[in-house]
Amino acid sequence: MPGDIVIRPVGMVKSDYLDPKTVTDSEEKAVVEVFPQYADALLGIEKNSHLWILSWFHLARRDALSTVPYRINPKSPTYGVFALRTPVRPNPIALSLVQLDRVEGRMLYVTGLDAVNETPVLDIKPYFENDIVFSPRTPFIQPFKREMAQSNLLRQALTHHQEECPALLMAVRMAVIASEKFGHLNSPDLFVMAEGSPCLADTIQGLSRARLANPPRFEYRPSDLLGRTVWRRGSEELKITARWIIDQEAFWSASDDEIMDIN
Ligand SMILES: [Zn+2]
Repeated sequence: MPGDIVIRPVGMVKSDYLDPKTVTDSEEKAVVEVFPQYADALLGIEKNSHLWILSWFHLARRDALSTVPYRINPKSPTYGVFALRTPVRPNPIALSLVQLDRVEGRMLYVTGLDAVNETPVLDIKPYFENDIVFSPRTPFIQPFKREMAQSNLLRQALTHHQEECPALLMAVRMAVIASEKFGHLNSPDLFVMAEGSPCLADTIQGLSRARLANPPRFEYRPSDLLGRTVWRRGSEELKITARWIIDQEAFWSASDDEIMDIN
């Protein structure tokens, strides 16, 4: 077995992020500059909407094998670094799923890259449909701040539903409330019924990963209601009914009680 492996970066990240503490993996725009000697490796890359970017988190700690996911919740239990996506690890290789917005020569303009400026890029691979696991089992780490839970779910909802319509905002808000009571929304024993518009039902299905069958966890009832979801696990039930259509501003600022009935 070879003891040492030599890897030469194929490119570099250009981003407004300078400090790893401020990096999110949200809708941030960045550029991946591929070095001239690797330019031929980009042939046909523009046919992809999404890419995996493998990079080297050169500023990350490499001396710890376990840690707490502080940014999500400082009170979370400790995990081994291979059970987390923390940058802290023996080999700080980062795996980022990005949207490829456009290609200009050796420059890849991307959205969603969680890397600081001048991060070395090790490899670039296309994202395929086969990469999807519709309903994976993962540990539930309740974000410390509700805004983080809300923006995480909003991002997932947009990825799934592809438009930021009022029903999507309502569905995300309902999902936040449900996750505060039930934890992971994709738990095999959590059932959800969505009543209202197809947009509401589609977003709720995307967020809960609830299928109609095998196991049957999802039910949709088309109706003229603004929106209602009923979440059920065993004898526990949570019913959330929209009181009015919300916009972006209300999504972030209105209290639950102002916009919906919860019981
Ligand atoms: Zn919609």
